[in-house]
Amino acid sequence: MKLKRDKFRNYFRKNFVLLLVLALITGSLGACGSKDDWRSREVTVIDDNYRTWYEIFVYSFCDSDGDQMGDLQGVISKLDYIADMGFNGIWLMPIMPADSYHKYDVKDYLEIDPEYGTMEDFEELAAECDKRGIKLIIDLVLNHTSSEHFWFTEACDYLESLGADEEPSAEDCPYYEYYNFVKGNPNSDVWYQVGSSDYYYEGMFWSGMPDVNFESQGLRREFEAVMDFWLEKGAGGFRLDAVKEFYSGATSKNVEVLTWVNDYVKAADPDAYMVGEAWEGLGTYAQYYASGIDSFFDFEFAGPTGVVTKTLTFSGETNSAQAYAKALSRVQNAIREYREDAIDAPFFVNHDMARAAGYMQYDERKVKMAAPLNILMSGSAFVYYGEEIGMTGSGKDENKRAPMYWSADASAEGMTRGPLDMEPQENQFACAEEQMKAEDSIYSFYKDTILLRNQNPEIARGTVARLEEVEDQDIAAISKTYDGKTIYLLYNISETDEKQVTMSAEQYGELDIAGYLSVDGGAVTMKDGVVTMPSYSVAVLRPAES
Ligand code: CA
Repeated sequence: MKLKRDKFRNYFRKNFVLLLVLALITGSLGACGSKDDWRSREVTVIDDNYRTWYEIFVYSFCDSDGDQMGDLQGVISKLDYIADMGFNGIWLMPIMPADSYHKYDVKDYLEIDPEYGTMEDFEELAAECDKRGIKLIIDLVLNHTSSEHFWFTEACDYLESLGADEEPSAEDCPYYEYYNFVKGNPNSDVWYQVGSSDYYYEGMFWSGMPDVNFESQGLRREFEAVMDFWLEKGAGGFRLDAVKEFYSGATSKNVEVLTWVNDYVKAADPDAYMVGEAWEGLGTYAQYYASGIDSFFDFEFAGPTGVVTKTLTFSGETNSAQAYAKALSRVQNAIREYREDAIDAPFFVNHDMARAAGYMQYDERKVKMAAPLNILMSGSAFVYYGEEIGMTGSGKDENKRAPMYWSADASAEGMTRGPLDMEPQENQFACAEEQMKAEDSIYSFYKDTILLRNQNPEIARGTVARLEEVEDQDIAAISKTYDGKTIYLLYNISETDEKQVTMSAEQYGELDIAGYLSVDGGAVTMKDGVVTMPSYSVAVLRPAES
């Protein structure tokens, strides 16, 4: 016995420091995991079309085979990164064969561009997304094809073969109807000559992208087969490119085309998700909801002059937090006028826009604060790859599509070289590898923002109402109601001041702080119905659990 006791005593003496350290670690872990930390709250992700989406330009995202061009296997290798951030949807920019680096000029709608991999890679990607609860949608470019697509080359060959007095006929060449051809020079800079013939074709974007003719039933049947094909391969829906150019300037005709697309896809897969790009002001893009398409991108809040940038960088009452809250309900009401179940699609930046960090002059506090102003909006929120680490990119389009900044070492595994005509990009914030290790990074702030969204299903799905009784110009105060529950979101958008907001139990019932974001790391607290919020913070309040 004695011997044993001595042994224990010696062991204890020798290992005292180790035991002390263990005790401290256990204690701190206990604190992190306690119910006081909102991050440990349960996540309630509903399998519907109110998701948080990650937009990927495959070319610049992640390379798997050492040629420094991104590919589908590279995307697969980063699915855990994407899922870990809380995203449950991915939009891939075009993946079909094309001559351009951006691949919006499709040569074959039923193949994968060889730079990106194979059809087997796509099926594997779809299956791996499925395992993680991620819905995968792909870019579908219906407005135009590549001038190298065989529909177009056959139509041109046919027109060139006609004699001077011969009229073209779709019976001799069905593809002739698929495009907008006219005889005689229309003398317009969007029309191009077919070889040396008398025929001209329309190309709204450029000569390499002839516009298709949606009057052609043959063309519509071709596109129906394309949509069937990708749904069958595992796509969960489509992002529809350039929908306002189907019939440029004719919204009601564009809505008719989209109604056909929507009816066809929903008949094939009622759960499919579709989001359209109608790059217009709110009054016009809202009208597109009449087509039945789930979502249209919310250009009102996006870009260098959108509501979010104005709220953070412009002064005056019209750019205040109050104005932000008003804009949230304005958009909601505008789109519901056309369809009660419309799903707004907020985003801050896409591949056609300069990256957001530049709008904020690389002010890290503002770059962070922009995340909740976008991602906590109702609807399906989209984040362009690299925004979560505040990447740099402006000027020519290639610069906006720069290599995902995984590592400070440009030759590290997975790194891509980016578009050939890209100007060298110097990132102002650390690479993903570094930011993932830092609790106070832009990356961690994005991740916390998405976590809040995933913990509170009302954030994506709720009907917004502004709390008019909160009058401070620096505070946006809204409620979101979904499935019989109402939660409250408070945003302190003062760049310098701590704020107090009264949320009395008499008016709102007993509320708890369900979670919060704070740019400088200070806590949001609540006492006797008064919420104290540090500068640049957001609080989510839920009815107290009895
Ligand atoms: Ca590659």
